[in-house]
Order: sequence, then C-alpha cells, then structure tokens
Amino acid sequence: MSSVLFDRIALIGIGLIGSSIARDIKESGLAGTLVISTRSEATLKRAEELGLGDLYVSSAADAVKDADLVIVSVPVGSSGMVAEQIAANLKPGAILTDVGSTKASVIAQMAPHVPAGVHFIPGHPLAGTEKSGPDAGFAGLFRGRWCIFTPLPDTDVAALERLREFWIALGSKIDEMDPEHHDKVLAIVSHLPHIIAYNIVGTADDLEAVTESEVIKYSASGFRDFTRLAASDPTMWRDVCLHNKDAILEMLARFSEDLAYLQRAIRWGEGDKLFELFSRTRNVRRSIIEAGQDVDAPDFGRHALDPKS
Ligand code: NAP
Repeated sequence: MSSVLFDRIALIGIGLIGSSIARDIKESGLAGTLVISTRSEATLKRAEELGLGDLYVSSAADAVKDADLVIVSVPVGSSGMVAEQIAANLKPGAILTDVGSTKASVIAQMAPHVPAGVHFIPGHPLAGTEKSGPDAGFAGLFRGRWCIFTPLPDTDVAALERLREFWIALGSKIDEMDPEHHDKVLAIVSHLPHIIAYNIVGTADDLEAVTESEVIKYSASGFRDFTRLAASDPTMWRDVCLHNKDAILEMLARFSEDLAYLQRAIRWGEGDKLFELFSRTRNVRRSIIEAGQDVDAPDFGRHALDPKS
C-alpha cells in the first residue's frame, strides 16, 4: 500500500477511466477521502454499489469543494461544461487535471474557467479498452502505460511534480509534450485506427446479406480485430473526431494517398512494392513488442476463445 498523496480527491465522471482511477486510488490508499460525482443518478448509484469511493455527490460543483486533486474523466466535448460547473468551488492551490483523448480542444474549453491559484494540468493516460461505464474499469489499467501531460507555459513546477507522483503511483510512465503535438501523435496512433475500424465495419454492415452470415461466421480472420475497435463508445469517439478535427483530417489525407498507392500496386501487379511495404510494417510490430507495448502472443495477446465456454 502506498501512502496518502492527497487528503481529498474528487473524480468527476466515473466510466471506464474514472472508475479505473478510483479502483487504483482505493487499492493503494492514495487519498484520505475519495469523492465521486457523475452526471446521472443511475451511474452514481452503480459507483456506490461497486464501492468505488468514500462519498457520492450528485452535483459536480459540490463534489470538488475542499478537494486537493480534481480529475475530470468525461467525454472531451463535455469538459468545458464541467469546468464551468465546478470553477467557483475549486480550492485555491488545488490541482485540476483531466484524462481527455484530445488536448488542444480540452485546454481551450477548460482553461478560461479555471480560477487564479488553481493549477490546471491537462493529461491523457494512454490506456483503455473498448468498454465503457463504471463496471468496465479495473485496477492496474494504467500500469506500464504512458500518461502524457500537456502543461500550460506557466505551470507550477511543484504541482506538476505532485501530479507526476500520483500517476507514477498508478504505475504509469510520464511524458510531456505540447498539446498540438499530442493531438497529431494521437491522431495517427489512436484516432485514425478507430476511424478506419468504424469505416470497415460500417462497409461490411452495408453488405447486409453478407453480414448476417459469412462476416460473422468467419470473423476470426482479421475482421474481428476491427470490430473490437469499432465497438468503442460512440459518444467518446464522436467527441474525439469533432475535437481533433484538423489533425485527424491531415492523417486521413495521408492515409488516402497511401491507400491509392497500394491500390495501384495491386492493380498493376507490383508485388515488389507490396512485399516491401508489408515487410516494413512487420518491423513496426516487432518494435512495438520490443518496446513492451504489446506481447508477442498470437491473436494480439488475447486469450483464444474456449469452445467449452
Ligand atoms: P465512459 O466510460 O463512457 O464514462 C464517461 C463518464 O462521463 C460517465 O461517468 C458519464 O456519466 C460521464 N459523462 C458523460 N457525459 C457527461 C456530461 N455531459 N457531463 C458530465 N459527465 C458526463 O468514458 P471513458 O472511457 O471513461 O472516457 C472518459 C474520458 O477519458 C474521455 O474524455 C476519453 O476521451 C478519455 N479516455 C478514454 C480512453 C478509453 O479507452 N476509453 C482512454 C484514454 C482516455 P453518466 O454515466 O453519469 O452519464
């Protein structure tokens, strides 16, 4: 068990990410008191049933009173509204952070509401699954994963250090970058793959007759991995697309260009070009495994389905 890092932590939003943070805080004893708030009574009740916090408060504004650390874990399109709701009750000297998947937009939405004397440090843990809601979270989600801070130019060094300590206690590795750079990097490593997955699964779904039979039946052969990504939370991903528009459009343009190259190589039977690309991409996979970002087990590290279960 780690020691208490903050006397009072308030979590606003208790879905996959919020509830995973809550479980880690509880397990490691990082907070004197853990206060939980979320938009709907049903989710708040579920969080209480799961025993995720110490106090459960309907109003986000009430929840942040006296909190030393406030973590906002809501879809990025709602972060401005939450900041507006809680601003007046934030304690001077408190740290306010978020976990949103886009950073420039979250900063633009939240920063104008943050009162002087409150340390706003935007963050993004690069960890998650395709599931959502408080039941989906689990302790250890952030272990060995990167958490990226995008601090504002005048960020208090001591506050940054305290937040760093918090995420390290959750097992994360910390990096810092400016928000625009973060949004570009994430557009290619996370946002584009999700958009491609939504698109391919949508295309298959349009082929209705096929979807109902062969696509489902034979889905072990590649399509299944896309369906996992394409099952991600629609609200979260709608917001990511709307709030990282420029970087996503730039990556989509590059992707389309490269796809046209591939299309041409296939049309003209240019096997050497195909082989060269597929060899290069295989090396990327190898590098990811060497960097400890995935395991070298077949089936992308997931357990094979047990035919008996
Ligand atoms: P989630 O499981 O869908 O949970 C979202 C939470 O936000 C719920 O507690 C929900 O409350 C609340 N919420 C939704 N709309 C709200 C609003 N308008 N005002 C206040 N609360 C609202 O989502 P999540 O996966 O935890 O994602 C939370 C954040 O983490 C997002 O910004 C996402 O970009 C980021 N993130 C996600 C992942 C991932 O893989 N999922 C990874 C890294 C970062 P109710 O249920 O009460 O409505």
